[in-house]
Amino acid sequence: DALRASGLAAACVNSTMSPNERKAVAGQISAGELKLLYIAPERLMQAKTLAFLKNVNLSLIAIDEAHCISSWGHDFRPEYRGLRVLKEKFPQVGVHAYTATATEQVRGDIAEQLGLQQPEVLVGSFDRPNLVYSVQRANNRFRQICDVIERHPQQSGIVYCISRKEVDKTAAALSQLGHRAAPYHAGLTDEERHAHQDAFIREDIDVIVATVAFGMGIDKSNVRYVVHAGMPKSLEHYQQESGRAGRDGLEAECRLLFSGGDFLTWSRMLDGGAARDGAQQALEAMSAYCNGVTCRHRAIVSHFGQMLPTDNCGACDVCLGELDLVDDPLIVAQKILSCVARLQERFGADYTTKVLAGSSEKRILDAGHNQLSTYGLLQDESAKTIRDWLEQLVGQKFLRKEGEYQTLALTDAGRALLRGEGSPRLLRPSEQATRKAAGYDAASWEGVDRDLFESLRQLRKARADALEVPAYVIFSDATLRDLARRR
Ligand code: ZN
Repeated sequence: DALRASGLAAACVNSTMSPNERKAVAGQISAGELKLLYIAPERLMQAKTLAFLKNVNLSLIAIDEAHCISSWGHDFRPEYRGLRVLKEKFPQVGVHAYTATATEQVRGDIAEQLGLQQPEVLVGSFDRPNLVYSVQRANNRFRQICDVIERHPQQSGIVYCISRKEVDKTAAALSQLGHRAAPYHAGLTDEERHAHQDAFIREDIDVIVATVAFGMGIDKSNVRYVVHAGMPKSLEHYQQESGRAGRDGLEAECRLLFSGGDFLTWSRMLDGGAARDGAQQALEAMSAYCNGVTCRHRAIVSHFGQMLPTDNCGACDVCLGELDLVDDPLIVAQKILSCVARLQERFGADYTTKVLAGSSEKRILDAGHNQLSTYGLLQDESAKTIRDWLEQLVGQKFLRKEGEYQTLALTDAGRALLRGEGSPRLLRPSEQATRKAAGYDAASWEGVDRDLFESLRQLRKARADALEVPAYVIFSDATLRDLARRR
């Protein structure tokens, strides 16, 4: 539709079309009237489609969302594997593969799966400098979600939840507080989903609360924040979902809330199929990101095999100094690791936390663990803080969790750390560390008459409704701000 509106001869073929409509498109193709045809891999791979296209003067085949070809990619779809035959059936036709999220491994796999010979690999920058990333351990998820929403009154934002149930619950609670919010997930009817998506695009509502089902093909440029109410299952997902914020180049906030429970939820959902190892690896990388304390921009781009040119991105919780770092992390880490060693690597994080905190719980006394030299070693800290540090040490790979009971064990790096080799970073979970990220926003508002901006925004909404197009098609937020700045 967008291409046709721009005067290009484009068409699609899909299952919602009648046989006559499909025949009409075939006619256009045979007559050489079409520049671009959109088609799903399943349909393309049908013998009669391939036979038909064999007689057409094809010049190029482009595969979008090409990461689906790789079982190392985050949305592996087996039917994409069939696309391998394209190079055999159409040896003279160029085959291009496009994706916004592919690690080096996935890029190599895409080329191999498609049978491309010496392909040209072009990689853009993965960094989105206008996104301000922050990560928080969930302690009161709903309150933490509201914190972000309240920082962006009357602005568009997305809240991603792991399950449909959470989506419904969160959307309802937000509406009750007077926020203009609606849910979006695969359990709703087509009509409901379309209605809610349209309301979001037309800015009749501000917040869409959604599962990962939301976002494909959404090109709303002025999404000002994306909150993840739970940990996504891969950094690829996170990059793609958080990347829906700030497409107009203005700053946007990306806040990720997570808990150890999120990891377990996803682990349980992993199936035993071909993509299992990849999915497990992806989940661990995501968890390491959450528990990590290095620059978020750096962590994301390095996952995709790139370097960040600056030391301080100025746009993440780590670089903005919002994290409250422990002064003597080596000593604290050594206390924790030696407790794991004294417990003979046979206990999980909760139990280890209690021993370190000096809990007088019966099972600890019964096991005689109150006699260990590490018992009560961190008794001045809250159990929550100790538990957090344990996760951080797992995230930094000094500890690992093993087996069904997720018992803690030392890694080689952990053993080295006990000898004083290595430098962990530990942070205190800060309850309200978000003020500086909010300050980042100030620069692009400088000199902007906010009342005028608001009036213009309403005018834009009225024009958009009259023309039946999304508001950002009229003017981007950047343009509106500039108008309100210059008058
Ligand atoms: Zn940073």
